[in-house]
Amino acid sequence: MASSETEVVVVGGGAAGIAAGRRLVDAGIECLVVEARPRLGGRSWTIRDGSEFPLDLGCGWLHSADRNPWRGIAEAAGCTIDKTPPPWRRLSLPIGFPIEEQRDFLQALEKFYERLGSLADGEPDRPAAAFLEPSGRWNNLINAICTYVNGAELDRVSARDFGRYDDTGVNYRVVGGYGAVIARHGAGLPVVLGCPVQRIDHSGRRLRVETADGTITADAAIVTLPSGLLAAESLRFTPALHEKTEAAAALPLGLADKLFLSLADADEFDKDSRLFGRADRTETATYHLRPFGRPLIEAYIGGTLATRLEADGEAAFLDFAVAELVSLLGSGFARRVKLLHLHRWGVDPFSRGSYSYALPGKADCRAALATPVDDRLFFAGEACSEGDYSTAHGAYLTGIAAADRAIAARRS
Ligand SMILES: Cc1cc2nc3c(=O)[nH]c(=O)nc-3n(C[C@H](O)[C@H](O)[C@H](O)COP(=O)(O)OP(=O)(O)OC[C@H]3O[C@@H](n4cnc5c(N)ncnc54)[C@H](O)[C@@H]3O)c2cc1C
Repeated sequence: MASSETEVVVVGGGAAGIAAGRRLVDAGIECLVVEARPRLGGRSWTIRDGSEFPLDLGCGWLHSADRNPWRGIAEAAGCTIDKTPPPWRRLSLPIGFPIEEQRDFLQALEKFYERLGSLADGEPDRPAAAFLEPSGRWNNLINAICTYVNGAELDRVSARDFGRYDDTGVNYRVVGGYGAVIARHGAGLPVVLGCPVQRIDHSGRRLRVETADGTITADAAIVTLPSGLLAAESLRFTPALHEKTEAAAALPLGLADKLFLSLADADEFDKDSRLFGRADRTETATYHLRPFGRPLIEAYIGGTLATRLEADGEAAFLDFAVAELVSLLGSGFARRVKLLHLHRWGVDPFSRGSYSYALPGKADCRAALATPVDDRLFFAGEACSEGDYSTAHGAYLTGIAAADRAIAARRS
């Protein structure tokens, strides 16, 4: 791409950027989606390599599926939706974690969420860890759940933001892959791939969007970069937008990674069942056995543990998971699993993490990040959503909102 021009540049072709691009095109606005990676989808990514099944390395669950716009898009595209309730809404297998103890834990978790939800609007925010029962028996495991949900431990997470997360409790999956639905929604949009945007100069009458492959002149831009990249100024603004950098820094990306293992003699386990590696530790993985009935294990690893394993490399994930599984299922189990796939989202240069959480006291930074600048620089992406952050549908809705604002500004 040499120099070019358009009405609206959409920076980033993930769920938010695709939603925004589609909305602009449908409104008859000329736009260009500029994506750093050689593919669309960003943190939504379905792959097939190494497995006969599609694997969602990023988003897999249509959370709040009864109001999730991606569900309708998937259905309209003829995709099969699986409505099996997720393992986390049922009891896990009673291996290393007796059913009575599980019930006790689930009660403690529910009470924790109730206490978290009791933080009144006028009260000062606190770290979510302040809402744990003092010396509670299940505090470590509740903290582990937080590393799966937020990608970070409770002491780093804003209780107010955590309490604002709005989930209807209906969770479905797309058999052919959630990431595939999102990427397909971008098919046919005007897109440039493999083209990181380096700077947006908004000092003049028109924007100058500088990329590795040339400069695009535009009237407006919708920026959908992960908050961690905005905080690190991997995309620069001239003049600088300090309030955006600060808001983004208050919304760091937590880390959660999925490790996919093939499983021999899988029928021994119930379809869509689950095991916790340990019930007494924060640094433990949760294992989804036979997702969709497939002969696989999907291990979910978050927070400090994921950061440490990422630093040690792919083999460290496998060693960790095998050690936990062997301690639950016996030494022969090691021969039954093989590494299929892992994506380390923390060292991925175009995400540098998995999904955003808010630091204590910073929940309102989501609205600050989403606020347009001069009615021509618009911001979207999961971190901009106050109730659906960290999700693909939250990203979608912020993309639509930013596009609608851009359309309104162009028509005013
Ligand atoms: C392991 C994991 C599991 C998850 N599970 C779920 C789930 O079950 N359900 C759910 O709803 N969500 C889940 N999520 C979260 C969900 O995937 C994200 O919230 C969502 O995809 C974010 O979309 P986005 O458009 O905001 O950001 P992104 O998808 O990150 O899009 C931003 C885009 O900007 C691009 N970019 C970066 N820098 C530049 C640059 N300089 N120039 C141009 N482009 C650039 C990136 O490559 C990327 O494509 C999960 C995520 C992970 C990692």
